[in-house]
Amino acid sequence: MTATATQRAPTHPATPQTFRQVQRIVRGRPTSDGAGVKLTRVIGQPGLDMIDPFLMLDEFRSDSAGDYIGGFPEHPHRGFETVTYMLAGRMRHGDNQGNSGLLTPGSVQWMTAGRGILHSEMPEQENGLMWGFQLWVNLPAKDKMTTPRYQDIAPEAIPEVAPAAGVTVRVIAGSIDGVTGPVSGIATEPVYLDIRLQPGSTVEVPLPATHSGFAYVYEGQAQVGKGTSAHLVRGDLGALGTGDGVRIAAGDAPARLILVAGKPLNEPVAKYGPFVMNTQQQIVEAVEDFRAGRF
Ligand code: FE
Repeated sequence: MTATATQRAPTHPATPQTFRQVQRIVRGRPTSDGAGVKLTRVIGQPGLDMIDPFLMLDEFRSDSAGDYIGGFPEHPHRGFETVTYMLAGRMRHGDNQGNSGLLTPGSVQWMTAGRGILHSEMPEQENGLMWGFQLWVNLPAKDKMTTPRYQDIAPEAIPEVAPAAGVTVRVIAGSIDGVTGPVSGIATEPVYLDIRLQPGSTVEVPLPATHSGFAYVYEGQAQVGKGTSAHLVRGDLGALGTGDGVRIAAGDAPARLILVAGKPLNEPVAKYGPFVMNTQQQIVEAVEDFRAGRF
């Protein structure tokens, strides 16, 4: 045995022992947000309130400019994190502190809103496909009023690994095969993987047993689970049960999905639009701070 193999063993168990099953399959609801942007809300809707620590998951996908051109003009956030992952199209981000950035295909913005930001997210294109996800990740009570922080990650800064034949994984957050994604210092220790499977391929992905998680298929279809597996088609979210890994297999067509997990907070959640706190009183304060221009 080589020294390298010995060193790697403790922190990255290569082989999961207990496989997660899909507890339930949820399909998103068409809705609109911002200035009339059409999207599908998968988490944060009547059929699936949250998967602690994940408060919301939206998929936006349209090649019709009228569905996205209005964008998300200036609006506030407090008490949680927004994670934007672009698959296609360009989105311009700007905030009231003078921060600005362009989200391009394959890029990620992990924004920790903390005590408050006021920002806009606007398409930087007048036609063509706009496709991606926005995930809301809750902050623990102790971090809800933290200083806002951005992690803007360019496509080339996201490592890609091939953990099995015919399978490629972009590692946005968390680790697989000893490769760790660029997102760092997040309280819920998230795993965010973008997985691509060729027809007939299979992969077993380790996931921390402490985390809750889900798989969302955004292209093709896949079997998720070992022993008993669930068949997920495009637009299906599979909420995962307990275990230290998940097995994913493609059928006779390619499949693409995101696999996301995080440590549950198990704290009270008080939500009012873009403010997510622990108590109603903190929500009232957030609204007052926003109205008084304290963001
Ligand atoms: Fe926003």
